[in-house]
Amino acid sequence: MNLLTDSWIPVRPQAGGAGQQISLPALLCGSERWELALPRDDMELAALQLLISLVQVLLPPTDKKQWAERVAKPLSVEAVNAATKDYQEWFQLDHPEYPFMQVKKVAAKDPTPMDKLLAGLNSSTNSRFVNEPDLAKGLCFGCVAVALYNLANNAPSFGGGFKYGVRGSCPVSTFAQGTDLRSTIWLNVLSQESLDEYIPDWKAQAAQPPTWVEPIKEKATIPAHSIGFLRGLLWQPGHTVLSPPEKSGQCSCCGHEVDKLFTSFNKAKFNYTIDGLWEHPHSPQVLTLKQGNTETRYVSFTQPIPAWTQLSRYVVKREVGKGEQGQKPAMVIQQLQKYLQNHAGKFELLVGGYRNNQAAIIERRHEVLTLSQGWETHAKDVHELVAHGLKYKTALRKVLFVCSEGIKEKDRKLKGTGLKLQEVGETQFYRRSEHLMTKALADIDFSNTLPTFVMLDKGLKKICEAVFTELTTPYEHDPELFRTLAITRRSLQKHIREIRINPPQEDAA
Ligand SMILES: [Zn+2]
Repeated sequence: MNLLTDSWIPVRPQAGGAGQQISLPALLCGSERWELALPRDDMELAALQLLISLVQVLLPPTDKKQWAERVAKPLSVEAVNAATKDYQEWFQLDHPEYPFMQVKKVAAKDPTPMDKLLAGLNSSTNSRFVNEPDLAKGLCFGCVAVALYNLANNAPSFGGGFKYGVRGSCPVSTFAQGTDLRSTIWLNVLSQESLDEYIPDWKAQAAQPPTWVEPIKEKATIPAHSIGFLRGLLWQPGHTVLSPPEKSGQCSCCGHEVDKLFTSFNKAKFNYTIDGLWEHPHSPQVLTLKQGNTETRYVSFTQPIPAWTQLSRYVVKREVGKGEQGQKPAMVIQQLQKYLQNHAGKFELLVGGYRNNQAAIIERRHEVLTLSQGWETHAKDVHELVAHGLKYKTALRKVLFVCSEGIKEKDRKLKGTGLKLQEVGETQFYRRSEHLMTKALADIDFSNTLPTFVMLDKGLKKICEAVFTELTTPYEHDPELFRTLAITRRSLQKHIREIRINPPQEDAA
């Protein structure tokens, strides 16, 4: 059961047809166009991320030219075999000594059922988290590899005493979407020249074995910069080992008939500390100034708000300043901007991650955002468009807050509703504006942005007014609230006039 040679990648032909499991050489060297086929979007993204990581560490293209060739056409079987032949031992799920992403000896009293290995399957409280029953009853080796990787890198840990991944708990990952699975992988693999630029010492530590070959020392404090590229990209923070597989049958996740099914695993608490931030190529970063020092962290989903609100962070680089957050897109997105200068068409950005409350996943977020042609050279416009949309949300929130709290005048206080209307208002705003904002980002003409801003102004003004009216109408006939509502209604109009790019008369009617 080797990830480099056996058939484990769950795919279906893009042109239609039955799902099947194929090998890494078949994926990279064949001309058939595939897409991933798993029952959950987070599992598909994890499978993609695992594939990108494998290809990244074993087959990094030398430069832009080779990168572009690999995106465009399949590799030869000889090239793949030559790159993978010395690494077979590290990627075997049932290796007698170094099983992939596991620790051989785990002192656990009882085995843990497989559903714990699928992130969020039994801890979610969110209704968007729809799972089929018995999804983790018995897993094939491909699904197990994806689940092990996802849990180690993207999910919260099992709780107290268990550590989360090398980027911290629940980071956001961003990738470019290609025309099929093979091209998507290569679009998100850094060339060696990019690695030299982004992580100057990557080569020096490239030979470090992964954590399951050379285990992390218990209670160690590990400087982030001492972790090698392969080791960090495939970091396993947990002490986990699969129980021996049971009989053959149908995998409860991907549905394929296999000769071995995994039904449980063992886990044990294990502690260590990473000091500093490990440079991970798949995640955007936020930078803040604290007492003269720049602090960097990975972007995560902290609130239930749509992905477009964070889009600027995913694709626009900004320096950190006083009172001003800096941001850095994921390296794979930075490389794309560098390599595609003026040659990119419409761009589909895959964004994924979990929103968590400690060990519990409360929301699964996997979205595709489309950016209009020219995005890679108009980062500033993308930033402005997102900021513009957010100004309407802030204006609406502000006036609804005043509606709730009331207004202090010189000699008296005007009553408020006492209910937190701003919270409901914000949710409503996001729900109703999402289509408008994503359409604006997908369709904007970067050589003439004004029509898009005017379209947004019109649409977002209407949404703000409608939400305000709906939330305040029930109080209109309350004589004590009448004045508060009249003042805030005027205030909303004033805010909107201030936001508009081109304060027009055209929609005065
Ligand atoms: Zn499976």
